[in-house]
Amino acid sequence: MNVTVVDHPLVQHKLTQLRRRETPSDAFRRYLREIAMLLAYEALRDLPLEEIEIETPLTRMQAPQLAGKRVCFVSILRAGNGLLDGMLEVLPSARVGHIGLYRDPQTLQAVEYYCKLPEDIGAREAIVLDPMLATGHSAVAAVDRVKELGARTLRYVCLLAAPEGVREMNAAHPDVRVYTAAVDSHLNGHGYIVPGLGDAGDRMFGTK
Ligand code: URA
Repeated sequence: MNVTVVDHPLVQHKLTQLRRRETPSDAFRRYLREIAMLLAYEALRDLPLEEIEIETPLTRMQAPQLAGKRVCFVSILRAGNGLLDGMLEVLPSARVGHIGLYRDPQTLQAVEYYCKLPEDIGAREAIVLDPMLATGHSAVAAVDRVKELGARTLRYVCLLAAPEGVREMNAAHPDVRVYTAAVDSHLNGHGYIVPGLGDAGDRMFGTK
């Protein structure tokens, strides 16, 4: 499968806190922001560098800086914003796009209600964000749309994935690597990841 599981102990520890039923919304948002920074570290590890000449207090030297391809984070509303904050903390110069999708509760299919991406998305590395890769329907719909609007290289970053979601994404978009903190056991009949953490948006914003 085209998936990278980020098994760093810090990520796994914070994920366990997110899974706990009793973790309140403020702590949930904080852990999610922290995990997002660690996921960004892994998902962006092959960004190209260029050598530039700088001066330290002691001497001149050739030193690396980020080169060429710039990044656009694409948040799938609303839960994607929980990952976005941490991602922007490590790469503040990135552009941000948003895609609004909701899951039709009957069909579990993704329905788009909003989409705004930077005009130069085609010249950027697009990193699509949503904490939960469940059925994969919204993930695939979001990636379809981002490609339709010009993106040529994409990655998908989530917190938790179901095997069903990873398979669906790999089948529809074999070129898009999925980065996640864990691949859980399965989906239940309502499309929730088991054992999972519940509804990420509700846990983040305290809406239930
Ligand atoms: N979305 C969520 O927020 N949680 C799940 O388990 C699946 C989809």
